[in-house]
Amino acid sequence: MNSIEMLKTLVGFPTVSRDSNLPLIDFVDSWLGEHGVTAVRVPNDERTKANLYATIGPMVEGGVVLSGHTDVVPIDGQPWDTDPFELTQKEDKLYGRGTCDMKGFSAIALSLVPEMKSLRKPIHIALSYDEEIGCLGAPRLIEQMKEQIPQPAAVIVGEPSMMETVTAHKGLSAYRTVVTGYEAHSSQTHRGVSAVMNAAKLINWLSEFEGHFKDTTPTNNGFIPHHTTVHAGVIHGGTALNIISRKCEFLWDVRTIPGKSATNVHEEFEEYCHEILLPTMRSVYKEADIETSVLANVPPMGEILDNPALKLAQDLTGKKVRSRVAYVAEAGQFQEAGFSTVLCGPGSIDQAHQPNEFISINQMEQGEQFLRKLIQRLS
Ligand SMILES: [Zn+2]
Repeated sequence: MNSIEMLKTLVGFPTVSRDSNLPLIDFVDSWLGEHGVTAVRVPNDERTKANLYATIGPMVEGGVVLSGHTDVVPIDGQPWDTDPFELTQKEDKLYGRGTCDMKGFSAIALSLVPEMKSLRKPIHIALSYDEEIGCLGAPRLIEQMKEQIPQPAAVIVGEPSMMETVTAHKGLSAYRTVVTGYEAHSSQTHRGVSAVMNAAKLINWLSEFEGHFKDTTPTNNGFIPHHTTVHAGVIHGGTALNIISRKCEFLWDVRTIPGKSATNVHEEFEEYCHEILLPTMRSVYKEADIETSVLANVPPMGEILDNPALKLAQDLTGKKVRSRVAYVAEAGQFQEAGFSTVLCGPGSIDQAHQPNEFISINQMEQGEQFLRKLIQRLS
């Protein structure tokens, strides 16, 4: 199976994060099995999803981990021109959900397993679940790999970077806030506490906090945008136009530049809730409430300068390009666990999460060249 056929197979599994990825994992497991490679699964608590890792070659130190995530973002409401879960080629582009983010890289790695016959140093393939909803699967995968595999020399996280070496990415903290108000007829605003109106104040506060980061962060730090961002992505609330709303819930995230933490945003948010909003809300209804829970906490990948992973990736790409990216990936988690890590993969983040997501055939070829050179080097 060549890399494009492999990509077609992987895209055919609709592994949206909210659903199981087990059919894909079963396929990968049996593909590796056919080539004499034993894979290990690291399931979630409910056993509805699993990470998978496998070592190809000898169980010795100095190998390279190729890391990918199996899940993809939803397609709900997006105007696709083709079936998102059927790889469709038009001219030099391959369309389908997950093509660039990031089944392309995994497909290349898996399709080359038959060529990894005479490795002196191992290649470890690591596939995670739930990356797209806060990198929730990777920590247990990384923890188990750290215990079970001989110390690798490098980890390459194949998120889309147009095969350029990425040396830093932002971190992510995600939150759910639930506002509880008190119902009344909407003509009697003095008698009710609107959850929707108070949620709006909170979101406005978050937006102003982002403005503060924008104004106070040096602009030439390589990140676009250059600052820590604050964003609310989902909101649900209210019952009817003429009812003051009891419940409103929204999801928001803080994407931090390395060296910064989201904790101060969360703390100041709580302070605003408790000192400004809640006293007013509770003067009308004493059980009014605002509750915030943390959904995810992903560390940024801090700038790497001359680590073995960067050197390896730069040798393989033949480029000296270094860049920083605003998106969040599992590279920060590998780095935090003590692995020498770099991010480099085919496709562009510009097409990720979009309708008509694609990867170009040229990027697939570049990815293949990159991994073939790696195989040569380790053989
Ligand atoms: Zn991704």
